[in-house]
Amino acid sequence: MIGLNFTPSRTMALDRLTHFAPLAGRHYETGRNTDAGPDHANSVSYLSPYVRHRIITEHEIIAEVLRHHRLPVAEKFVQEVLWRTYWKGWMEMRPSVWRRFLNERDRHRTTFHDHHAIACAEKGQTGIEGFDDWARELVETGYLHNHARMWFASIWIFTLRLPWALGADFFLRHLLDADAASNTLSWRWVAGLQTVGKTYLATTENIAKFTNGRFAPKGLATEAISLTEPAVEPAGDLRQPTRHDPSQPSLLLVTHEDMHPESIFSSAYDFRSVLVAADDALLWGDRARQFATKGATEMTTRAAAHFDCPTHSITALDAETLVTSAHAAGVRQIIAPYAPVGPVADAIADLALVLAQQGITVVTIRREWDSRFWPNAKKGFFNFKERMPQLLSESGL
Ligand SMILES: Cc1cc2nc3c(=O)[nH]c(=O)nc-3n(C[C@H](O)[C@H](O)[C@H](O)COP(=O)(O)OP(=O)(O)OC[C@H]3O[C@@H](n4cnc5c(N)ncnc54)[C@H](O)[C@@H]3O)c2cc1C
Repeated sequence: MIGLNFTPSRTMALDRLTHFAPLAGRHYETGRNTDAGPDHANSVSYLSPYVRHRIITEHEIIAEVLRHHRLPVAEKFVQEVLWRTYWKGWMEMRPSVWRRFLNERDRHRTTFHDHHAIACAEKGQTGIEGFDDWARELVETGYLHNHARMWFASIWIFTLRLPWALGADFFLRHLLDADAASNTLSWRWVAGLQTVGKTYLATTENIAKFTNGRFAPKGLATEAISLTEPAVEPAGDLRQPTRHDPSQPSLLLVTHEDMHPESIFSSAYDFRSVLVAADDALLWGDRARQFATKGATEMTTRAAAHFDCPTHSITALDAETLVTSAHAAGVRQIIAPYAPVGPVADAIADLALVLAQQGITVVTIRREWDSRFWPNAKKGFFNFKERMPQLLSESGL
């Protein structure tokens, strides 16, 4: 299937970017909304599983694209990449929205009465053309085109009238790019919770047009009335970076949240050992687990060569393993790339408290990209987008 070979390696990600970058201008802008199906060429990049795990970074993607196009020509693509950055920044300053999703999901898992309807929707047995195909495509490939994700979420919420949080959970369990911020906030956006009162209604005409006539589902909801919820708390401050001394001997801890530490840490850091953690419990679905685990294996080889120190992989991110590894490396400082809101960030925060009692400090380092862009995600994407040229320029792009 074209585009759908998601081999979890940096070589593959760079290869894909090299082929896509010349097409990131008008070709992308005019074709990006069309989903010709998994067996046909689409105009999108298929980079999301790689950038989600930061096997490749937003900076690298935009830099390569701007080598081929001036910003006004590739603006649409660059903006799409920045939606990822924006959602992450937005969530980072409102972590309660993630917890709200988890609570909502757990509540519906136990109280939602129509298990049959959920099972039919997930298996692609609703009888709704397109919707059923996307459900199967998601499970079989781990990927859905952005427009298909929007149609699917809209039909789930407004035609089938199923709880949005269970739909978001279905995506998390199957997407290779499953991501706390992009997934939760996109589902909320479709439901009218994110931009309060503004929903997304999937229509037969729009689906027929942008699937090249493959699907024209009948009986879709004709209106999309916003879901409601108690007001979301105002944006708080970003978590402050922990003070640390780069020259102090340290252990580098890499997780599936950021698998390119080579582009974060300068030679000022004195790493005595690298630990690559691929912890199944911190990922949602089997496909994403396999992707991250294989990616971690490749990462281990890269890290060993780059940091020139002993490198080990672990399958459980727990205090005992970290303490043993720190002692073996003779260090009292563990440094990890910053993990955005989600299970890895929670695990690292918990571990930091336990390890502090053993005299070991855990420090997380945020990328300059995130520190520069995220504070601008307090309001809507329009404001964020307005700042884009300046922020890109400050990033050397
Ligand atoms: C209901 C719903 C759920 C989603 N869940 C996720 C998710 O769990 N993880 C995830 O990574 N994306 C999610 N998205 C966003 C988007 O659909 C995917 O990032 C995109 O389809 C990835 O395919 P691509 O790389 O071929 O995209 P391209 O069109 O080639 O875009 C290039 C890059 O821009 C970013 N991007 C593009 N569109 C979006 C968007 N709408 N929001 C955020 N970033 C975007 C991605 O990093 C993508 O790799 C969701 C969208 C919707 C509507």
